Amino acid sequence: MEHLSDWVIEFKRAYPEAEVLVGAEIPAAVRTDFLGAEVGTAELYIKVHSSAEVSAALKFAHANQLPVTVRGAGTNLVGSTIPHGGLVLDVSALNRVLALDEDNRTILVEPGVKLCDLQALVESRGLFYPPDPAEKQATIGGNIATNAGGMRAVKYGVTRDFVLALEVVLPDGSLVELGSPCLKDATGLNLKHLFIGSEGSLGVITKCLLRLIAKPEATAHALIGFKSLAEGISAVNTLYAANLAPTAIEFVEKKVIAFGEQFVKAEFPLPEYQAYLVVTFDGKAESLPSQLEACRQAISAQHEIGFLPLTDPVVAQNVWTIRAALAKAVQASGVWEPVDTVVPLKSIVTLIDDIAALSAQEGVRILAFGHAGDGNVHLCILKDEIPLAQWPQRLERVLTQLYARVYELQGKVAAEHGVGRHKRQYFLAQVDPTELQLMRLIKHSIDPYNQFNRGCGYAE
Ligand SMILES: Cc1cc2nc3c(=O)[nH]c(=O)nc-3n(C[C@H](O)[C@H](O)[C@H](O)COP(=O)(O)OP(=O)(O)OC[C@H]3O[C@@H](n4cnc5c(N)ncnc54)[C@H](O)[C@@H]3O)c2cc1C
Repeated sequence: MEHLSDWVIEFKRAYPEAEVLVGAEIPAAVRTDFLGAEVGTAELYIKVHSSAEVSAALKFAHANQLPVTVRGAGTNLVGSTIPHGGLVLDVSALNRVLALDEDNRTILVEPGVKLCDLQALVESRGLFYPPDPAEKQATIGGNIATNAGGMRAVKYGVTRDFVLALEVVLPDGSLVELGSPCLKDATGLNLKHLFIGSEGSLGVITKCLLRLIAKPEATAHALIGFKSLAEGISAVNTLYAANLAPTAIEFVEKKVIAFGEQFVKAEFPLPEYQAYLVVTFDGKAESLPSQLEACRQAISAQHEIGFLPLTDPVVAQNVWTIRAALAKAVQASGVWEPVDTVVPLKSIVTLIDDIAALSAQEGVRILAFGHAGDGNVHLCILKDEIPLAQWPQRLERVLTQLYARVYELQGKVAAEHGVGRHKRQYFLAQVDPTELQLMRLIKHSIDPYNQFNRGCGYAE
């Protein structure tokens, strides 16, 4: 290998803005994920500010076949930013908004732009970026690399549906533009889709052209309390059958709410119920009250419910703050494992019942919340008082049974968080061997030395 310290001197001379750290200088905070339970190793860390820096860094890594871990805000929950040696390429400072085209309703940004900043900017211009994953500090590049979902996927779709074009620096340092500003594109293979959701396994996304829509005039929410989670979940089908087109349908169990309430020091309304749906509608202001009423009528015809339109701003704020803080609240409470599984809509109730049985059988507490409207069930598996030494085996037993059941129900390991390192063994146990072989053939043709996120997700 070309001597690392000589190369660093040259690189810093050529790109004085880049932050470069080597060996022991690299802090643990950039060698882990949001959970922070595992910290990886790296020889080189570069925080880049331009595509040219990315390209130069990758040329060096390629020449020396160094493993590369791309890092955005590091909010992933699956260990996909835990390096196993080599280079950590931090793109969080590659964060300029390059062009907002209000006539075409597109925005061109660098990947390090935070979701919260993008949403605030476009909404200040009467525009709207619908993908809305709960972690607003995540970067747009990270959202694209994980094909992030979030609450509004029910009505608008996921991140993939709003990516028009990408600039990508490939593992050998060459640069390619994929996609176009056109809304329709049936011109050859649509390669941008390979990079969306690729979890940093194929190259570095350095520019993102995103589709925007007009900002909905108004939004209305209602909290619906149910006597059981299974009842709440089965009400989702009632909503769809009534053709009510909600923007979001979130579900949460009362026992999870307690974590959120304690964490953000606020009260959740309708405390007499065991489970909740939070339903959102957006559109013309005058149509929203009738949509909420139609929603109440459709669900109350089949279930005994508490129905609270969230018109009081303080109550609404409490509900959403608690909902948004759930993962962080559970994280603050101790050791846990996040699960981001997805099943076809008709199977959610079966899955929730099976999870309750599994929890009782294995003596492990499992909390559920998530995006009920698209079958995405988030679980928090809690270590509680289980001794740390026994936890990995106990957890593995639970997860093995859980994912086997998910696949029986035609579901998948990951709905929106990706596979990363933490879900890899369960993904590999279930994936069709031919599909896996195809994925690896594609990776090999783009990343022949398997440098990018090696040992992560589908990568060897
Ligand atoms: C409290 C909380 C709530 C969350 N809620 C949701 C939710 O509702 N929906 C959801 O989908 N996710 C959610 N997440 C997960 C996480 O926020 C998303 O996965 C997010 O998209 C990660 O973005 P990031 O910038 O933090 O990426 P990172 O964590 O830094 O990286 C994630 C992956 O993307 C790759 N990557 C990052 N940037 C690039 C790039 N420019 N080019 C190529 N590869 C890149 C990395 O190598 C890694 O594989 C949540 C996380 C937390 C902590």
